[in-house]
Formats: sequence, structure tokens, C-alpha cells
Amino acid sequence: MTIAQNKVVTLHYEVADGESGEVIDSSAGGQPLTYLHGAQNIIPGLEQALEGKAVGDALEVTIEAADAYGERSDDRVQRVPHEAFAEIEKVEPGMSVTAQTESGPINLVVTEVDDDAVTVDANHPLAGKALTFNVTVEAVREASDEEVEHGHVHGPDGHDH
Ligand code: ZN
Repeated sequence: MTIAQNKVVTLHYEVADGESGEVIDSSAGGQPLTYLHGAQNIIPGLEQALEGKAVGDALEVTIEAADAYGERSDDRVQRVPHEAFAEIEKVEPGMSVTAQTESGPINLVVTEVDDDAVTVDANHPLAGKALTFNVTVEAVREASDEEVEHGHVHGPDGHDH
């Protein structure tokens, strides 16, 4: 069985910075990743590279930022008043915070703190980066009707949400 729309795919992966080669994340020694193919569960460039692959196939692919986590946008960097962080004892650069917005919670990283305001960056930490994936396909199966309907994979014990 090859990877195509509505197949559930299990894979081991290692992802590295496409320029420096520094490893960012890896499933080695841990749980493999399982996703529903064609449902935008994973970044578009990787989904495309996996199309047509089968169990046992290994691939290395470098994906440009636009097909990974997108380009960085300065519009996602904002200065907000200190009052917005009243609940946090000490706001420091490098700190991750979750902000509630009209379209749901988003993750922000504090990049600068000065007397007037706190600068936060809502770009994905991997935005603007090319990424190199080393992937091994471990399993491919048909998705259930329910999984296709929901657009994601359900666990071995069925529906748990
Ligand atoms: Zn579901």
C-alpha cells in the first residue's frame, strides 16, 4: 500500500535546520508520528514528498520555509503594554506566553522588555527556516470513515474525544 489521500501513515523522522544541519527534533527512541495523509496534519512540503511512498521507504528532503512553517512576518511582532502581563510576576525575553485572541489561543515569545512595553513575536519558532527531514515510513493503512470525516487519526482504542 502506498501513501495517498486518506491513508493513515506512521513514520519515524528527524528534522534539522536546512542550512546549519543542526537537529531540531527527532522521534528516534520515542513514539513515531502518525498522521492522516491529505488532511494537512503535517507541513505541506513533507506531505507532498511522502505521496506514493511505501512501508520501508526512507527519504531525505529539504523543504523551503514557504512549504514548511511559512515565512517570518513582521506583522506578527507587536509591542504590548506591560499591563497585559499583570498576571506574570516577571516578564523576560525568551519567555513563552499564551495569548487569548478572537480566533483562539496563540503562542507568543517575548523578545524584548523595556520601560514602555513588551515586544512579543507570534511567528512560529521555525518560520523562515528551510528544514531537512529524514523520514522512514513504518506503516500505512486505510483511514476509517470516521477518521476521514474528522480529518485526523484516532488511537487504537477508537474515539477518545
Ligand atoms: Zn476525531
